[in-house]
Amino acid sequence: MSADPRAIEKTVDGLKVLIVEDQHDLAASIWDFLEHRGYEVDHAADGETGLARAIDGRFDAIVLDLGLPRLDGLALCRSLREAGRGVPVLMLTARDTLDDKLRGYAEGADDYMVKPFAMRELEARIRVLQRRGRDADAALQAGDLSYDPRSMLAARGGKSFALTRAQGQILLALMRNAPNVVSHAKLIEAVWSDGGGEAAALHTHVYELRVLLDRPFGHQMIQSVRGLGYRLMAAP
Ligand code: CA
Repeated sequence: MSADPRAIEKTVDGLKVLIVEDQHDLAASIWDFLEHRGYEVDHAADGETGLARAIDGRFDAIVLDLGLPRLDGLALCRSLREAGRGVPVLMLTARDTLDDKLRGYAEGADDYMVKPFAMRELEARIRVLQRRGRDADAALQAGDLSYDPRSMLAARGGKSFALTRAQGQILLALMRNAPNVVSHAKLIEAVWSDGGGEAAALHTHVYELRVLLDRPFGHQMIQSVRGLGYRLMAAP
């Protein structure tokens, strides 16, 4: 049999994407393009239906319009995050303003596109988000310490610890980069992606992490590198 590049691409893809968009011609264009590229596509034309689908379905990404009937995109995104769904969200909007963009991120959107856009660009963004989402979900191990971002539970020495969101983000950054030093600025960015946050708050979160994960054990894994940042050194 000859290799059909399209067929190969299809087996590689098969990603499930939900489109929540009330503009039918645009929704149909996105649907056609993604389906042709091998995605499994679903569609909702209003916010309430979109939220229900997004919570029930196992989607790899959601393409979400900002202006929707019954429930707008920002409210949908917020409800989705409150329901504990971490599925990547790509927000679409006709409103090209910085305010909307920042609000979108604050409500939990992962990326943002201003209409009109090229379908190829949309697909490229979906792929990036999907890869990032998959990486972000993977459980990490360093020595006798493990952390699962899905449950936000860390484990060390046979004990399990529930982390706060900030503690989890810091630990993730340290574990992903271990044993390299992660700068204070990078850690602040990991916790407060909207640009807020300061060193003092970061140090407080790191202190709390050490009380939980280091103090009861002989080896101190989370180490301060004066003037630079922190690093995680697995127990030998
Ligand atoms: Ca709309």
